[in-house]
Amino acid sequence: MRVSVIGCGYLGAVHAAAMAELGHDVVGIDVDERKVAALTRGEAPFFEPGLPELLTAHVESGRLRFSTRMEDAAGSRIHFVAVGTPQSKTGNQADMTYVDGAIASLLPHTTAGEIIVGKSTVPVGSASRLAAVVAESGSGALLAWNPEFLREGWAVKDSLAPDRLVFGLPPEPEQAEVAESALREAYGPVLDLGTPLVVTDFATAELVKVAANAFLATKISFINAMAEIAEVTGADVTQLADAIGHDERIGRRFLGAGVGFGGGCLPKDIRAFTARAEELGRGESVAFLKEIDAINLRRRQRVVDHVVELLDDQPHGKTVAVLGLAFKPHSDDVRDSPALDVAVRLKGLGAHVRATDPEAIANSRALHPQLDYRESLEETLDGADVVVLVTEWDEYRYLDPAHVAGLVAGRRIVDARNSYDPQSWRAAGWTYRGLGRR
Ligand code: NAD
Repeated sequence: MRVSVIGCGYLGAVHAAAMAELGHDVVGIDVDERKVAALTRGEAPFFEPGLPELLTAHVESGRLRFSTRMEDAAGSRIHFVAVGTPQSKTGNQADMTYVDGAIASLLPHTTAGEIIVGKSTVPVGSASRLAAVVAESGSGALLAWNPEFLREGWAVKDSLAPDRLVFGLPPEPEQAEVAESALREAYGPVLDLGTPLVVTDFATAELVKVAANAFLATKISFINAMAEIAEVTGADVTQLADAIGHDERIGRRFLGAGVGFGGGCLPKDIRAFTARAEELGRGESVAFLKEIDAINLRRRQRVVDHVVELLDDQPHGKTVAVLGLAFKPHSDDVRDSPALDVAVRLKGLGAHVRATDPEAIANSRALHPQLDYRESLEETLDGADVVVLVTEWDEYRYLDPAHVAGLVAGRRIVDARNSYDPQSWRAAGWTYRGLGRR
């Protein structure tokens, strides 16, 4: 099948490569010339395990091309739209400019029988509105919505073997049939794996995505709220999480107390959901998400407070070694990264912040050139007064406390991901602080 993917960022580039892997003839379109140039050379413009191999294989085989020209999408049976929906600069709502703009510039290149398939995360109601735009254009194309659940760091696997697929189809039965059969064909090999498929309407498909992210954010903030209570009661939140996690109705995953969530999805998605619910007159239904967001942001300040306390309230001029900058391991994405936020807050207090990350230094430097970035872990730790683990890359999780003690000026560590065994650090002479841990 000929397929186009409009928007080749963290989602779209992987989706395009995955579609080629599934056997389709794919063109990826993006307005960013540098991204398109890199992808055309078969290079991933960002860090994503497994993506370079897929790109190289399919750019070489000729099944995968990239272009900045929307007209090159012409002739595709499906056009996947995977452009960004960031938080608006003026409020909590999603900025739909890119989705609206991409569909407007795609429409003149579409004809009857083609399907425009939204993958971006959008406020509920967007697909109906956009279906009317598509219908009014007279191109004869149809619209469907197929939200994406991939996780950065596992995006290739999640695209080739997702845990479910959701098809949001138009209300008209004939149109729904055409869209469903095209989507079933596009995802044929994935469906053959036995992947669960939910075929539904636009509103449900849009809501599935934001509801899933709202649930995950809630789980994280729930355990972080327990960490706050543990901190004033002397309880240990990691043991608490283990104990409640044994209940299979609760489960242990996503109950890791720490500095909280970030990235290009969860924070902006729960805010956009709240804003959309308010527009619909149902703000109270998801008002709790404001609390989820507030708990999450408080944890970042708590990490900063721990560092300041360990420096006897005098952070000015002290060297803080920050381990990790990406919003999570296995990604170079620093959008709304708790780690970068903590580093910047500490810099704002006058500390000398030396920061490192295996993949995210370039993206961090572009946003915050004022920090002192070091490629090597040893250099970052050298002479530090306090160490903060903020993104739990394996490179940092398995540090030997005795070895690190020989590099730093002060044996003080804040473990913002509760990744370490406090006993072994204390035994090596460190003052250890976790979040919600004794
Ligand atoms: P991104 O910013 O990495 O990528 C968006 C891309 O769209 C950019 O490369 C940009 O240049 C391009 N673009 C913007 N306008 C365009 C246009 N008119 N024509 C062609 N290209 C255009 O964003 P992302 O992380 O890939 O997210 C995209 C969407 O997918 C968002 O709605 C996001 O919420 C959703 N999503 C992302 C993930 C993820 O893990 N990143 C997972 C699931 C869903």
